[in-house]
Amino acid sequence: MTDQTEAPASGAPLRLFNSLTRQLEDFRPVHPGEARVYSCGPTVYNYPHIGNMRAYVFADVLGRTLSFKGYKLTHVINITDVGHLTDDADAGQDKLEKAAAQSAQSIWDIAQHYTQAYWADIKALNIRQPAEWSIATDYIEDMIEFAKGIAGKHCYELPSGLYFDVSTVADYGRLARAATEEGEGRIEQIDGKRHQADFAIWRKTPQGEKRQMEWDSPWGRGAPGWHLECSVMSGKLLGFPFDIHTGGIDHREIHHPNEIAQNQAFCGCGSLAEPANSGARIWMHNNFLVERSGKMSKSSGEFLRLQLLIDKGYHPLAYRMMCLQAHYRSELEFSWDGLGAALTRLKRLVMAVEKIRKQTGGDVNTKILMQAKVILDGFDEAISDDLGLPRTLPLLEQALDTKALPPSLRLHLVEQMDAVLGLNLLSLTRAELRLRPKAATVSEDEIETTLARRKEARAAKDFATSDALRDELAAKGVEVMDGDPLGWDWKIGQD
Ligand code: AMP
Ligand code: ZN
Repeated sequence: MTDQTEAPASGAPLRLFNSLTRQLEDFRPVHPGEARVYSCGPTVYNYPHIGNMRAYVFADVLGRTLSFKGYKLTHVINITDVGHLTDDADAGQDKLEKAAAQSAQSIWDIAQHYTQAYWADIKALNIRQPAEWSIATDYIEDMIEFAKGIAGKHCYELPSGLYFDVSTVADYGRLARAATEEGEGRIEQIDGKRHQADFAIWRKTPQGEKRQMEWDSPWGRGAPGWHLECSVMSGKLLGFPFDIHTGGIDHREIHHPNEIAQNQAFCGCGSLAEPANSGARIWMHNNFLVERSGKMSKSSGEFLRLQLLIDKGYHPLAYRMMCLQAHYRSELEFSWDGLGAALTRLKRLVMAVEKIRKQTGGDVNTKILMQAKVILDGFDEAISDDLGLPRTLPLLEQALDTKALPPSLRLHLVEQMDAVLGLNLLSLTRAELRLRPKAATVSEDEIETTLARRKEARAAKDFATSDALRDELAAKGVEVMDGDPLGWDWKIGQD
């Protein structure tokens, strides 16, 4: 018998790919009518690169889809300001302690600075605010309590800290069977560890050293492990089991298997044949944004930050559009051309909306309403099929182009679809989309004045002057675009 309260809130059944079972599953909320989602957030030791931001665009679209389907969403994203080592697998130094050692600023100031920078990117990408930004250092007491609860049965102490024994839970590493074997080589050898995959849940400050961030615990003064943080914050804020846990595919290897092991230990749960025993019913992972020349790496000088795209004259929502054009489970290759194409597609949409706004009239009858319904049903079906966003964009374009639909109805469709896509289509203007590259020396006023003079010259058939003015602009990096189908009169070279 099916439980009616677990039926999808509206429209097509929502199916999502669960990395834990490696299959598409119907979304059945733990709490009827609700959706509780936890997303692994940034480690705030540096600026996020645009690859990191793909993970949050994905989580945002997932949240918007759940809202669109009628679920009451509670989304938590954490901010990791302690405990994440330079290698995910227990090796190296704490990323924030390392950044602080290289800087005159305190670790707290560094965390604050990069958290603000991350939030600025979140805003620029029109990512909705989650119900909670959980900051790891606000939950140290809860982490100690959690660790105390599992220490007796599942952990052992070494001079360097408290370690989790992965053989004490069923199915360790199921999420990443193949990936963990690969990852195993990277796990640091620590004297006394019972199994290679065992990991620190509390790290003692070595004798004679002082960390900027350290707390007292039953296992000595020190700091929590990164995996512990996410288990504690997700469990405390959403309750085990919650609905969906998200992160990038790299987290399938170590971070999430370790979170799962801790959750199983904390809840006293058995095998992962029942996915909810992992702490979440569904684990979802976005594939990577890749860039061939290595500019994504934070260790490369000018790495790909959202601000770099903006400085080059690309509106940040062009980046969001680029993400939406690929399925979240596919790798997406970044290129400036690809970004330019996404910007053009966004411009076309914005211009179509602006045009429709100026139109009025049109009768609404049953046939027309049916036509609108077919488009919206297609959209619902596409997003409900494991967030098939690339398939929704042509439907949006179709909604804008279907002349038979009255303007108000077309705008209504755009509004509904954009609630999921988050491209701000009803408020973004053509002028806002044209960003001035930072390196440009010429002002918009100057361009407009020169263009006005050129128009006069052309009207007077003075083509010599008109060409000279065009060359004058070209010398300043401004390309005049006569007859541009988008009605874009000029642009400043973007790269
Ligand atoms: P971090 O700040 O390193 O913990 O990463 C934040 C999020 O970005 C995590 O969910 C990662 O899995 C994800 N991530 C890291 N690199 C990429 C990438 N190139 N493309 C997409 N997601 C990424
Ligand atoms: Zn996490």
